[in-house]
Amino acid sequence: MKNLRRGSQIIFLVFFLILFVQTEYKGEDELGMPVRLFLDFDPLIALSSLLASHAVRAVFLFSLVTVVLTVILGRFFCGWVCPLGTLNTAVSFLRMRRKPKHPDDGNFPRLRKIKYFILAFILTGALFGWNAAGFLDPISLTIRSLAIGYNPAVNGLVRSILDFAYMTNIPGISPGADTLLSFLTGTLLAFEQPVFRQMITIAFLFSVILGLNFLAPRFWCRYLCPLGALLGVIGTKQMFARVDVDKGKCVSCHTCNRTCQGDATPFPPGSWASRECLVCFNCSDVCPVDAISIHPTLQSTGDGNVDLQRRWLITTAAAAAFSVPIVRLGEHNKRPHPDLIRPPGAINEKKFLQRCVKCGECMKVCLTNGLQPTLAQAGLEGLWTPMLVPRLGYCEYNCNLCSQVCPTGAIEKLTLEEKQAVRIGLALFDKNRCIPWAMGRNCGVCEEHCPAPGKAIKFFDVEAVNKNGDPFIIKRPEVDPGLCIGCGICENKCPIIDIPGIRVTSVNESRAEYMLYM
Ligand code: SF4
Ligand code: SF4
Repeated sequence: MKNLRRGSQIIFLVFFLILFVQTEYKGEDELGMPVRLFLDFDPLIALSSLLASHAVRAVFLFSLVTVVLTVILGRFFCGWVCPLGTLNTAVSFLRMRRKPKHPDDGNFPRLRKIKYFILAFILTGALFGWNAAGFLDPISLTIRSLAIGYNPAVNGLVRSILDFAYMTNIPGISPGADTLLSFLTGTLLAFEQPVFRQMITIAFLFSVILGLNFLAPRFWCRYLCPLGALLGVIGTKQMFARVDVDKGKCVSCHTCNRTCQGDATPFPPGSWASRECLVCFNCSDVCPVDAISIHPTLQSTGDGNVDLQRRWLITTAAAAAFSVPIVRLGEHNKRPHPDLIRPPGAINEKKFLQRCVKCGECMKVCLTNGLQPTLAQAGLEGLWTPMLVPRLGYCEYNCNLCSQVCPTGAIEKLTLEEKQAVRIGLALFDKNRCIPWAMGRNCGVCEEHCPAPGKAIKFFDVEAVNKNGDPFIIKRPEVDPGLCIGCGICENKCPIIDIPGIRVTSVNESRAEYMLYM
């Protein structure tokens, strides 16, 4: 069974990585199957989104499959499917190879409670409209960490190795490196080297989660994962996979506990905790005297589940309720942050925050790398949600990929025609920096690139005087707010290298309740 489980973990991890790589423009306007498929089967995302936004979405039905299977089999998702679980297993494997110092080395049963309190905090927060599940949900966390943290680093590393090989000018190696780079670009690698704000922080946090496996095998899954806690509660009965220890045969060697992936303590007999069991089958596989069997039964075979003590749950829920107004406090509540430009299709800001799970799929798929994670622009509630940073990348007129991948409907799916009609902001000239305004020289780069039908940038002939005192006609640009869609290409392409002469803000965005120009 152990090998079967390992096979399943590898297959699901590879599938996850294939979908992850596929969540990128590959020459087709429609993405086949983005990595959000894993989020569709995630009950924590479904439940927290439902509670926070009071909206039922058809995709939530997929998560019911996971729920039904969990009722029958327990936390099989953690043990057999979850990609973060598999990565944790792989790192834990390194640790488990060393000789244990103590029979219960790496088991901290007292820490098991933490994940249930995290779950209680998240669900209570969601009840009050704060959808914090995405911060710690393992699928959302893994996609975000890989997309924003690790993927740029892998891209950069592969490119520099191939660039180095190309520059060696060694016959065979140099052209080979060039061919390989062309092949990898657009298949496994991104078209352009992605760059993300907060990349180091997000990669670091994920590395810490993986590093925790050296303290205890699958530390995250055992003690911190809120999805694991939810599945543990749903699968407490797990009628079809209960662990039973034959007292007569058991020789008290602790081998089962040492190899248990979930700190479910099969030993001593009767102490097995169904909510902690990841159905990994390690205990029954390693028992030297075949004292452990995993079989269907309606009878209770263990009594080791943590007592969650109602007063602590109530305290956690109260803390979550109090945190909601606190995370919402911030100057952005009085006035929208000037940099906060949401992608086209983003729903009304309040609802957007209730739905977005910070998975980073939209940022991964953004063609120009313009979608970046927020830091303080939307407050703590909106941390790591997407915003357009036009200086880094613009919103490509003929692209609606971000609206195709969003798993929660925070960015609604739009056809290309619908998307092209959405205004995400408005460009405004900085007349102290714009070349024709500030320097008295003609420049039309922004107008050239403006994709809005009829061009949102217009020129007006104005009489000016050059440094010799001779009059001449200069073309000065103005933005037509009725045509500008806020795509940001003008800001992106402005030849002033640092602070551009034209800047886009969210003023006039279509989704706002107020609008300057309809
Ligand atoms: S808006 Fe982006 S980060 Fe938020 S849920 Fe949708 S795809 Fe994920
Ligand atoms: S943001 Fe700039 S390029 Fe885009 S529509 Fe407005 S003026 Fe044109």
